[in-house]
Amino acid sequence: MAQLSSRMRTLVQPHLADIEPYDPAFTPCKINLSANENTYPLPEGVREAIDAALAATPLNRYPDPMSNDLRDQIAAWRGVERGRICVGNGGDELLYNFLLAFGGVGRTLLTCPPDFSEYAFFASLTQTGVERVWRDPATFDVPRDELLDAASRADLVILTSPNNPTGNLVPIDLAREVCRVCPGLVMVDEAYGEFADACTTAECLLDECDNLVVLHTLSKAFGEAGIRCGYVLAASDVIDAFAAIRQIYSVNVLTQAVAFAAVRNRRTFAPVVDEIRAQRERMVQELSALVEPLASQAAVWPSHGNFVLVRLPHASDVRARLRDEFSILVRDFSYAPGLEDCLRITVGTPAENTAVLDALRAIMECDGCDERG
Ligand SMILES: *Cc1c(COP(=O)(O)O)cnc(C)c1O
Repeated sequence: MAQLSSRMRTLVQPHLADIEPYDPAFTPCKINLSANENTYPLPEGVREAIDAALAATPLNRYPDPMSNDLRDQIAAWRGVERGRICVGNGGDELLYNFLLAFGGVGRTLLTCPPDFSEYAFFASLTQTGVERVWRDPATFDVPRDELLDAASRADLVILTSPNNPTGNLVPIDLAREVCRVCPGLVMVDEAYGEFADACTTAECLLDECDNLVVLHTLSKAFGEAGIRCGYVLAASDVIDAFAAIRQIYSVNVLTQAVAFAAVRNRRTFAPVVDEIRAQRERMVQELSALVEPLASQAAVWPSHGNFVLVRLPHASDVRARLRDEFSILVRDFSYAPGLEDCLRITVGTPAENTAVLDALRAIMECDGCDERG
């Protein structure tokens, strides 16, 4: 594993000495289904609305620190007051700020791996301890009693719904119970919430649970990973804390303008999300048929996100062949505990999905030839 130079290891803060420089293992490929981006073109008219908003944005002035126009637009959409929304430079900044404000030395964050690796990373940067309740290795369900027991002792909890990379939901009543027993704040990370059924969001608990924080992003369903814009919904005093510790200009004028235009045009994204959901079901079906001959050596999990997790023998080799022979990039999770031989494939356009399915078929048939030969 890569590490900092020995000089840097002595100069950085002691808790950062073993940090590994981030390597996304990114190779330019014709088809990139590795990062759960929305690979569809923007809905008709939205790009024009965005370009007009950008053209009208002065660049010489500092941004509105709190993105108030955008907050009003989000408030009208989500049905909460502006004071219960904080906008960030991507969901990632809000996750980091969550740990910066509420974690730290002597505090513990409870997570349910396998989940989003950034949680443990931001915990390590902020010297927050991590407590783990592992998911069921076959279904990836979170064990209810163990979770509630650990949550009653945790300072912070993050539940991911739909979970990345396993695709399953946290039931609302379980999220409610966690909020009841946890003495600190509970974040439900709904980065993929738009791809799940409407009734699955924990937002309906916001009035009832004043320690709940719901995280959203424009990076996934809204196809704007490049602008870096996310937001949290929470009680107004929680938002005040987020506002107090943030880098005041982290959400720049261009991001605010694009996000405002996208949120105002939000209804035009619904058909794209519907298409991705339909393609996701197609992927689950066709991948299941593909790995069926492998019986217990393989698995395909149902998903509520815009990605599908699949287990198959020699997953790392399969990923490398997809990249080198077919110029298709998917995410390898083989190294991650609980995800041995697992690949995560983002649901792309129909043509991209056909390409990855055809490539996998070719690779797997050829494996059969090798064994016979
Ligand atoms: C993508 C993602 C986010 C946030 O992504 P940003 O691009 O930083 O907004 C948060 N949580 C999970 C689980 C994600 O997969």
